[in-house]
Amino acid sequence: MDMRIGQGYDIHRLEPGRPLMLGGLDIPSDAGCAGHSDGDALLHAVTDALLGAVAAGDIGELFPDTDRGNYDRPSRDFLQAAARRVRDAGYVVANIDATVTTERPRLSAHKIDMAREIARICRIEPGRVSVKAKTNEGLDAVGTGDALVATAAALVTRNRA
Ligand code: MG
Repeated sequence: MDMRIGQGYDIHRLEPGRPLMLGGLDIPSDAGCAGHSDGDALLHAVTDALLGAVAAGDIGELFPDTDRGNYDRPSRDFLQAAARRVRDAGYVVANIDATVTTERPRLSAHKIDMAREIARICRIEPGRVSVKAKTNEGLDAVGTGDALVATAAALVTRNRA
């Protein structure tokens, strides 16, 4: 079977008073991710995982922060474009597995909704997406609440349809 794997990583600074967009959802929080788009680190990591799986570059190359058109752009646009790249390359997404690491807010109540939203954006079955959440045990910038990290892995297989 023709399979390919991709991985993605993203880190954003957490700033008090900003809305927290994660997995395409507005998550209740007293701090949100800074960034030139809506700062959705989870969608950015998943986007890079999909692009990596089909060797189609990375999110910064496709949507440069030097392009003012990308300012305040919803990150779902980036993920939609990456999923399209996968389909155009002749592959389908077998599964996506992602982890968000942040001290606050606690994300356990939102994991399923975020996974479902990622599946919807990628136009795949909800059961093919997993979102996990953890803290950094008080260590490093994530541990002090100054940053949020997201990682993702994606497996794609050749579309036989
Ligand atoms: Mg980012």
